[in-house]
Amino acid sequence: MTANDLQLRAQLQRSDFTLDVDMTLPGHGITALFGPSGSGKTTCLRVLAGLERAARGQVRVGDATWQDSARGVFVPTHQRALGYVFQEASLFDHQTVEGNLRFGFDRTPATLRRHDWRHGLELLGIGHLLQRWPHQLSGGERQRVAIARALATSPQLLLMDEPLAALDAARKAEILPWLEQLHEALDVPVVYVTHSLDEVARLADHVVLLDQGRVQAEGPLADMLTRADLPLAQGDGAVSVLMGRCSGFSPSDLMAVYDIDGGHLLLPQSRQGVPRQGKGARLSIQARDVSLSLQQPVQTSVLNVLPARVTDVQEAVPGQVLVGLRLGPDGEGARLLSRISRLSCNRLGIAPGLAVYAQIKGVAMVR
Ligand code: ADP
Ligand code: MG
Repeated sequence: MTANDLQLRAQLQRSDFTLDVDMTLPGHGITALFGPSGSGKTTCLRVLAGLERAARGQVRVGDATWQDSARGVFVPTHQRALGYVFQEASLFDHQTVEGNLRFGFDRTPATLRRHDWRHGLELLGIGHLLQRWPHQLSGGERQRVAIARALATSPQLLLMDEPLAALDAARKAEILPWLEQLHEALDVPVVYVTHSLDEVARLADHVVLLDQGRVQAEGPLADMLTRADLPLAQGDGAVSVLMGRCSGFSPSDLMAVYDIDGGHLLLPQSRQGVPRQGKGARLSIQARDVSLSLQQPVQTSVLNVLPARVTDVQEAVPGQVLVGLRLGPDGEGARLLSRISRLSCNRLGIAPGLAVYAQIKGVAMVR
């Protein structure tokens, strides 16, 4: 546990539901709480926020203890330095955007203020909306204002409960880049509840899987996405995320080279978006876009073919298998998932330890 880590140890009994969790979360970056409806995600946020007085256990943020039932400590919600953003942005309808932001700032004790009410304006791109009334905002804009209002309180912890769930696909696409950017700029941890795999892949650094009130698994994003025994990998959208670093750009081919652990990937790049050398990027690869070959393929249009080793093979949907790989000739690089038919798997004799070539048909830069 380092200085800013967040500890949540909680037991809570409801009539037909028991929460029993023990987690230590990193004190920076975004932790996704992921799990089916009713698994206890919102309840975890409520405990962190001090809305569940009956919960037994401990809540600690850095060196501050917000709750410790054994010692009778319970810091009330309004004294916990946290921002809470809900699915439906709860703005004050009788105040302008500026009024809403100032409210967040004004209610923060002067000693806890670390920046002024304008802090979130640029981060969320809402400077031009200050004089608008809430009913004059789109769903995506409302959510950005709600986040900025939470930031105006100088929180030590930001809680977000399915902030995109009420938005249609277009509004989601509009707001995600702001959340990604926020992530780089924020120095406080974010606990982000979602049941969208896409949001997890794009935003999270750390993932906690909840199931029926318990922690099923937790760990760094790249590991959690590619564990074939976990539900994240079992759906249709199974995806691997690799952390890359730009090491070159060819202006004639309009291709950028990204170094990853265990190889390189080529990515088409527009002339406008030429990445600078050394720039970090989060690259996502759908499991269904990765096919396997026992020999190095020749004369293929697939640009990205990487040597890898099979680590595990799991039944996915009927007739299909998920193959876990580690990149590099020795299989010591990044994890990657491939989804192929069981027939191909049998024909090629795919089994743990086998050296293969992963042909990657599509790579997307998600951040
Ligand atoms: P999630 O956010 O993962 O969908 P919740 O944390 O909201 O799940 O709920 C977990 C369980 O607790 C569910 O079974 C839900 O029905 C139950 N629950 C939530 N709020 C209450 C409440 N106020 N009283 C009784 N049961 C509740
Ligand atoms: Mg919920």
